Amino acid sequence: MELFYDLHIHSCLSPCGDDDMTPANIVGMAAVKGLDVIAVTDHNSCKNCEAAMAAGKEYGVLVVPGMEICTAEEVHAVCLFPDLERAMDFDGLVHSLLPPVENRPEIFGRQQIYDCGDQVRGEEPYLLINACAISFDSLWELVRQRDGVMFPAHIDKTANSLIANLGFIPPDSQFTAAEVKDLKHLHRLRRENPYLEGCRIVSNSDAHYLEHIHEPELTISVGERNAAAVVRALL
Ligand SMILES: [Zn+2]
Ligand SMILES: [Zn+2]
Repeated sequence: MELFYDLHIHSCLSPCGDDDMTPANIVGMAAVKGLDVIAVTDHNSCKNCEAAMAAGKEYGVLVVPGMEICTAEEVHAVCLFPDLERAMDFDGLVHSLLPPVENRPEIFGRQQIYDCGDQVRGEEPYLLINACAISFDSLWELVRQRDGVMFPAHIDKTANSLIANLGFIPPDSQFTAAEVKDLKHLHRLRRENPYLEGCRIVSNSDAHYLEHIHEPELTISVGERNAAAVVRALL
């Protein structure tokens, strides 16, 4: 079946995410727009995924637990998991490898963690937008050990992207999908990086504000309507 998707959305846990991006508001907006599947992918954290998945059950929107990791090279990559347990296991690993730098909410923004009743249950103390001590090189294996999938984020952006930061796609890469922000760039990107010929290309909103969540325009083909099937579709 074909599902309308937006697999890269930031909640209010990301310091740069708007405070209105509560897990329930995100899922509610996705439902209003008519999306079938979304992923909540905060910087270096999965801690709002549980609340988003609970809201997803209420609204009838499939929510895939995920994270946008910032690797040691400051490359952004979206990691998606088949269930909350494995997402939180990965969250624990990434959190242990974050520099212990306190967030300064007045400068970077708040990092709010929500419970399943749409109430704030805490704030993340460490600044989540820093690079964690995981190399892009080692990321694929770490995500696959947890039955997830990783794809480099917004590879057409000039900052925090695989191509901008490394200058090229390492030929020994293993990733099977890649995210392009503006699909108009795809032809040029493929010409310059033949590796992409073998990749499934996705395009997501990377929304930090509710109104930026995608309209139902792009679909992903899945065997079943669950998170594991979405991960499989990207492998
Ligand atoms: Zn990013
Ligand atoms: Zn992002």
